[in-house]
Amino acid sequence: MKRNILLIEDNEQNRYLATFLLEQHGYKVFSAPDGLSGINMAKAFVPDLILLDIQLPTMDGYAVAQALRDIESLRKTPIIAVTSHAMLGDREKTLAAGCDGYIEKPIDPETFVQEIESMAFPSSTNKEIS
Ligand code: MN
Repeated sequence: MKRNILLIEDNEQNRYLATFLLEQHGYKVFSAPDGLSGINMAKAFVPDLILLDIQLPTMDGYAVAQALRDIESLRKTPIIAVTSHAMLGDREKTLAAGCDGYIEKPIDPETFVQEIESMAFPSSTNKEIS
C-alpha cells in the first residue's frame, strides 16, 4: 500500500521537487503552502509522515510541529523538518518542537528520499544496511 506524505512547504519549487522525488519512489504526496492549512490537512488525512519546512509565513515550523504534536491522532506520526537554517542549535530546536529528524536544504535529489526513509521508516530501510 502506498504511504501518504504530507508536505508543508511555502516554496513552490521545493514543493515541486520534493513531490516529484517522493512520487518517483511510490509515495502519495499531499501538500500545503502554510502551517494552518497543513495542520488541517494532517487532521483530515492522518499521513504516514509529515515533512515540515521551518521557514513558513505566519506560523513557523516550530509552532506547526508543536501544534501537530498536540493532536492525539498525530502523536506517533513522524515529522521531519526540512530547512535551510544551517545554524548550530537548529537541530535541537526542531527536536524540542517535536520533530523526529532534520534534513537540510537545498534538497539533494540523489539522497533526499533515502535520508527521509532512514529517519521516518527505519525498519523498512534494512536493505541499506550491508
Ligand atoms: Mn519556506
